[in-house]
Amino acid sequence: MPSIVLVSAEHAATLVDEFGRYARDYDLRPATSCSEALQVTADIRAEGGTVAMFVTDSVLPDAEVMHAFAKWRELVPTARRVITAHWDRFLLDADRLRPGMAKGKYDAYLLMPRGPRDEEFHFAVTDLLSDWGSTVPDPEVVSVKIISPSRDALTLAIRDFLDRMGMPSRVWHPTSEVGRHVLSQHAGEVGFPLVYSVNRTSIVATSVRDVALNLYGAPTDIDLDHVVDVAVVGAGPAGLATAVYAASEGLSTVVLEAEAIGGQAGTSSMIRNYLGFPRGISGMRLAQRARNQALRFGTRFFTGQVVDELRAGYDGAPHVIRTDSGEVRARSVVIATGVAYRKLRVEPLEQLVGLGVYYGAAMTAAREMEDQDVFVVGGGNSAGQAAVHLSRFARSVTLLVRRPELAETMSSYLIDEIDFNPRISVRTCTSVVDGGGEGRLEWLGLQDSQTGERTRVPAYGLFLLLGADPYCTWLPDAVARDERGFVLTGRDVPQNRWTGGLPPENLATTVPGIFAAGDIRAGSMKRVASASGEGASVVPLVHAWLAPEPA
Ligand SMILES: Cc1cc2nc3c(=O)[nH]c(=O)nc-3n(C[C@H](O)[C@H](O)[C@H](O)COP(=O)(O)OP(=O)(O)OC[C@H]3O[C@@H](n4cnc5c(N)ncnc54)[C@H](O)[C@@H]3O)c2cc1C
Repeated sequence: MPSIVLVSAEHAATLVDEFGRYARDYDLRPATSCSEALQVTADIRAEGGTVAMFVTDSVLPDAEVMHAFAKWRELVPTARRVITAHWDRFLLDADRLRPGMAKGKYDAYLLMPRGPRDEEFHFAVTDLLSDWGSTVPDPEVVSVKIISPSRDALTLAIRDFLDRMGMPSRVWHPTSEVGRHVLSQHAGEVGFPLVYSVNRTSIVATSVRDVALNLYGAPTDIDLDHVVDVAVVGAGPAGLATAVYAASEGLSTVVLEAEAIGGQAGTSSMIRNYLGFPRGISGMRLAQRARNQALRFGTRFFTGQVVDELRAGYDGAPHVIRTDSGEVRARSVVIATGVAYRKLRVEPLEQLVGLGVYYGAAMTAAREMEDQDVFVVGGGNSAGQAAVHLSRFARSVTLLVRRPELAETMSSYLIDEIDFNPRISVRTCTSVVDGGGEGRLEWLGLQDSQTGERTRVPAYGLFLLLGADPYCTWLPDAVARDERGFVLTGRDVPQNRWTGGLPPENLATTVPGIFAAGDIRAGSMKRVASASGEGASVVPLVHAWLAPEPA
């Protein structure tokens, strides 16, 4: 059972009492000082257990609280860290302690409950515990069982997809008890990975798409003659917001997504600047909540469906969107396909994608990095976030940056968090030029851009966050784009493509009834809030297009 370590010299009894409601699922371990908490943690680890959360008073007898967090973090980097200040000291200590929270040294500054049923307090605690639970390698409660003799690239990709869809999963060996049981129930030829989900028949998956089809169906499930009001391509924040607002206003809405929901945001371990989430929220959980919201209003989602063609309809004919699993016909289309990661273009490493080399933060793969040496390439905020997330699992994380410093490209709060984190080191003026391994990544070749010197380092994981380009090769030429491929809307459309001497409306493209929102749009802000804001703002334009005001 995971533990919660409760640390206070003066209020240990109050803390143990308040946390009583968690005693069924967590082992509550009190301590009266930083050093005692260290000993308790060492004992827990020696017994083979883990710590889900450290909860401490705002003052400790033998250490400054930030120092204590740093020590505990060295032992258990995955645990959530909370200060519960006694009401006598809450305001007194706030100015001293709050800056540490902004720098990611701990997760929440709470007021110790003053009586029973302080649900605000417990909401914060359960929220953090739920966040912790979503990062454990093997969750207790699973919706999908994967039977596989190895954690190969496909098995990992399926887990990653399921995680991002909010479906907890776990991998069992075919010879394990669970493995044998699933195999005994399986009808048909046996192969691996074998994927079994509650209320579905088990399938031998040859791709992530097989799993998506088994769980969520294909666009052919929609009657071919049926024309939907809005088809949204892409389920990142922009597409999800479009779906919520369109469906809530009664429009029949279909979302087609190439991978899992969430887009780039879904790969972010912690979004700290999204309005309304003071403790931050993982992109995956934000996306899952938005999807549930859209589902409640009747949106239909098809995930694992790459849209490879859009045939624009004119004079009242519907637009047709093509995927390998069928077509969707729609009166209006919202392009919300965001951007795709830039490639490293080091051939031996491209061969190892999924086998130790990952584009993006690869949340599931991060958990496989326990006690390993990993490298992150990139100098932007997404690379910084990935490094911080990976440091919860890996023994060492090296951030490789081509520039001489991070300050130009990364937010200062992240630079501070990286400085504070003993597991992360930064190598500037360095590029990855080579790499390889037997069946998976084992080493990297690095080059110092100032001296030209090449070194070979052992590496178990390489996470590439190199910036991104728009993905829109599937769009017809009639949809105008800028020289980099971003979709032009409103006044950004050059005058020679205006109709009737007027530019398209704000989020409208050069094809009537086709709109664009989020990162794919030229000039967009490239943030979760702006993408979801545009998703919401596009819906009135869709309405106006579907039911124009009489002249
Ligand atoms: C690691 C990371 C961390 C970040 N952290 C923050 C943060 O803390 N705060 C913040 O404000 N912003 C953050 N960002 C930026 C933010 O995530 C993006 O600005 C936002 O996700 C853009 O949303 P979007 O919906 O426009 O596009 P995306 O999120 O890129 O979503 C586009 C979706 O379209 C799908 N798609 C693409 N092509 C097709 C096709 N042909 N058919 C079907 N589907 C397709 C993709 O699979 C994807 O799911 C972060 C980005 C990354 C990568």
